[in-house]
Amino acid sequence: MRARYKPWADDYLKENNNIVVPNPSDYKGDWQAKFTNHAPIHLEIGTGKGQFIMGMAQQFPNVNFIGIEVVQSILVSAVQKVVEEQPGNVCFISDDADNVTDIFGENEVDKIYLNFSDPWPKNKHAKRRLTYKTFLEQYQSILKPGGEIVLKTDNMHLFEYSLVSFSQFGMELEEVVLDLHEFNDPTNIMTEYEEKFSAKGQPIYRCRATFV
Ligand code: SAM
Repeated sequence: MRARYKPWADDYLKENNNIVVPNPSDYKGDWQAKFTNHAPIHLEIGTGKGQFIMGMAQQFPNVNFIGIEVVQSILVSAVQKVVEEQPGNVCFISDDADNVTDIFGENEVDKIYLNFSDPWPKNKHAKRRLTYKTFLEQYQSILKPGGEIVLKTDNMHLFEYSLVSFSQFGMELEEVVLDLHEFNDPTNIMTEYEEKFSAKGQPIYRCRATFV
């Protein structure tokens, strides 16, 4: 996802420290305290400009949503949406997904969304794909037993790779959809990338996988 470099991004994220959690590992094992409730926690990794997480937060007010995004200039757009709409059930972490086990305790997260993750097409970069086995190990640790990963992408190669990676890890595939928009699903919240690619007529793939 491209974003113009915003030299003020760091200051803006720090100013909005009620929305962008400053020292996220302080909440490790106690994220519900951040939301002052006992609702389930859903984590979006690579949250981008925040359209999906905002839509989900509105559709599911009884779920706590946390978005993690590594690029500050991109995260700014997501934070601006929360500042405007003031949902009580969304916050963000400005960090790399590679640190999730430092940030969340074991069995703390109910669901993980991977939306249009960077495909890293070269084999030498496979370890950076968010469905590489080292990431799956981390997701398994922070997810509750039976917790699921929901992946959406327009990229057939990343989709195939991820299905194989999930299976080799011993995960169970609960759903595999090859054209998500073939039938209108009013409950599907589109991401920025999903809108862009589906407008070009590209099929959107989705799968749901659980650790067993
Ligand atoms: N999810 C959004 C969507 O569907 O519109 C954005 C998709 S964009 C292709 C991928 C996003 O993931 C970018 O914003 C990128 O900065 C973020 N990202 C990539 N690797 C990441 C990582 N290791 N940790 C956190 N965010 C990451």
